[in-house]
Amino acid sequence: MKFGGTSVGDVERIRRVARIVAAERKPGKGIAVVVSAMSGETDRLVKLARDAGGESANGPAAGGSGFDDEYDVIVSTGEQVTTGLLALALRQLGIPARSWQNWQIPVRSDAAHAKARIDSIDEKGELARSIDAGEVAVIPGFQGVTAEDRITTLGRGGSDTSAVAIAAALKADRCDIYTDVDGVYTTDPRIVPKARRLEKISYEEMLEMASLGAKVLQTRSVELAMAQRVPVRVLSSFVEPGEPNAGTIVCDEEEIVEKQIVSGVAYSRDEAKVSLIGVVDAPGVAADIFGRLADANINVDMIVQSQSRQEGKQNIVFTCPDRDAPRASDILHAAHEKIAFDELHIKRDVAKVSVIGIGMKSQVGVARTMFSALAAKGINIEVIATSEIKISVIIDSQYVELAVRALHTAYGLDAA
Ligand code: ADP
Ligand code: ASP
Ligand code: MG
Repeated sequence: MKFGGTSVGDVERIRRVARIVAAERKPGKGIAVVVSAMSGETDRLVKLARDAGGESANGPAAGGSGFDDEYDVIVSTGEQVTTGLLALALRQLGIPARSWQNWQIPVRSDAAHAKARIDSIDEKGELARSIDAGEVAVIPGFQGVTAEDRITTLGRGGSDTSAVAIAAALKADRCDIYTDVDGVYTTDPRIVPKARRLEKISYEEMLEMASLGAKVLQTRSVELAMAQRVPVRVLSSFVEPGEPNAGTIVCDEEEIVEKQIVSGVAYSRDEAKVSLIGVVDAPGVAADIFGRLADANINVDMIVQSQSRQEGKQNIVFTCPDRDAPRASDILHAAHEKIAFDELHIKRDVAKVSVIGIGMKSQVGVARTMFSALAAKGINIEVIATSEIKISVIIDSQYVELAVRALHTAYGLDAA
């Protein structure tokens, strides 16, 4: 069972979490609970770490993650507090419980500070023995420890990944992600009141939804659940035990009987568009440009290459995380002589809106519906990218909400 930041936002909520855990306990069934930091706490810690210089202002240096190892020491502490509070709340209900920090288990990760990946979890150690003996294990999400015993964190939203990794290591029947919404919706219910809760969603669709911006689950947690075949359920923590709480099951495509053409709409505001105009049209140029960006750890997303009106020239447009845009600009300007472009434009107030659905694979006209719906609202499309089960467009960020709502309606997703 995993509980997110809002779900453990104050002591009263932690008491409710304890009641939910208590109701789940049955003879012969062990429970591990993964908790996030209390809401707002990680943001507060990140700010402290930044103010102290723990994150390099220019982002990642070549190869490294750009974060100081002490950054993780600071930001990982929020989760530790919650584990102690929940263990106490459980004991007050008469339930044997103890907290486990990740170094005590241990949950080993690589050393990419602030975005570490879990390598291994000791599934046969003290933790498993304690759970088998009937003790509820309360584990902080978001943390790991390197082979050198240094503390790491798994990236924002990383507690989801901790939960799935621990569920996989303990061979749990299920990983229940309790959060502040009662399931996965057709789109973010906070911006589209007509969004509907999905009964089921396939791993593939959930993976796309998460990586295209739906922050209800961290992308890596879905990857891991899919690879390890961990059944995941997303449900509300704001419901008292015994009240209806069906949530959403994330499962194999085969388990979904009615396949929707489009199951969901996702958006991400954290985008920038980089346009290189008048680049020499010759073999090796793209390799050079994107090689430089990759060396600097800049995650390039959509790429479009088109012919320029000028003979022997082309234009290359790509998107990257907004926070990396200034570095991308510096790198390209520094290589101006080699790449020989005429102009470089960076547009930072853009957003990506995507529609996702496994039914898309065998359906025609899905793109047309998207483009017509956006055109009807007068929204200009700047970049388009497609894969088997998604279509993404880049638009001006001021139209994100309008676009998401229009697409939600156009694909018949609105609740009655
Ligand atoms: P937690 O603190 O429990 O990890 P998060 O804030 O990380 O919770 O994720 C839950 C939030 O994700 C919801 O409050 C909702 O606004 C947002 N969200 C975005 N897209 C979706 C979606 N498709 N379905 C459900 N929630 C979504
Ligand atoms: N507390 C961490 C964060 O805010 C991890 C998590 O909540 O999943 O990103
Ligand atoms: Mg989260």
